[in-house]
Amino acid sequence: MIYHIPDDLLAALDAANHILCVSHVNADGDAYGSVLGMTHLLHLMGKRAVAAMPDPMIPDFTFLPGAAAILAPDAVADDYDLIVCLDMSSPDRMGTVFDPARHAAIPLVVIDHHITNTRFGAANWVEAGCAATSQMLVYLADALGIALDLPLAQCLLTGVVTDTLCFRTSNTTPEVLEAAMHLQRAGANLAATVQRTLNRLPFSTLPLWSQVLAGARLESGVAWVTVSQAQLRAAGHADDDSRLNSILSSVNEADMSAVFTEKFTAQGAPTVECSFRAKPGFTVGDLAFQLGGGGHAPASGCTLAGDLEAVVAHVVPLMIAARQQQAITEPHA
Ligand code: 5GP
Ligand code: MN
Repeated sequence: MIYHIPDDLLAALDAANHILCVSHVNADGDAYGSVLGMTHLLHLMGKRAVAAMPDPMIPDFTFLPGAAAILAPDAVADDYDLIVCLDMSSPDRMGTVFDPARHAAIPLVVIDHHITNTRFGAANWVEAGCAATSQMLVYLADALGIALDLPLAQCLLTGVVTDTLCFRTSNTTPEVLEAAMHLQRAGANLAATVQRTLNRLPFSTLPLWSQVLAGARLESGVAWVTVSQAQLRAAGHADDDSRLNSILSSVNEADMSAVFTEKFTAQGAPTVECSFRAKPGFTVGDLAFQLGGGGHAPASGCTLAGDLEAVVAHVVPLMIAARQQQAITEPHA
């Protein structure tokens, strides 16, 4: 057995009756898959449970069972007896779903697979060896004696498929394939999941990427691009897409890559969302953590104050230094 579910987490789930499940800002397939999967799992346990997400629903994931019932932050109540935080390494990732004024007295429990997890819950189950939080929920269902039904399996397979880029990331262990096998056996359709998540793009992405990639830079084994709000607006996009970094991280000459996306705070101050990737044998997890963010060895991120130019000028030299250091000290494939 590669995992150990803490007794205090199981006891907290057992004791609670009205539970809020929440996942992270800038949601991805594992955020949606795990938050909806956990909510559904709690329903199967006979509990009252709701899911909430900090940002507006991403249309790509509306197909997931339960997606229509996800609460926006302003619809979140304050009478829960437990909050389950999924797929997040620190509490700031809950965005405005968690309101300290209303929720401070409610215990938090954490289920996550990020190596940078700060263990901010009253109970914390962190499995950095798991490729997705959704993979952990396969084990939780098993430990609770709950059979995987179709809605649960669909949610969890979506998390596993998206976080592993369809079983292509370096953390795709035999256990990941085994968990996926259980989900497939429970009826989840692998090909349909891939079609609905990884294999789709609006046409407007093509001119956006062609513009962004025209500005790609490569220096000392580090490749990067910047995405400005003007470029996003021209394409009619609210955000960039983590698949852009999949393209950069495939570049033969690059061991590390970054996508820097211009953002603005509600007060209008410029910030930059940094998304990092590393080839097998290299890690960007520490770098993101040191910069106030988090993630995994091969994929991590953070948000920094400042404009695009200033953040790139600060972060790229750190990446180059980290890559040079790791090229000397780490054996790599
Ligand atoms: P992506 O580049 O796909 O947005 O994120 C890669 C990984 O890093 C994901 O696991 C994501 O949860 C994590 N990550 C990205 N940005 C942040 C951040 O600002 N803070 C933390 N703690 N993790 C982040
Ligand atoms: Mn995840």
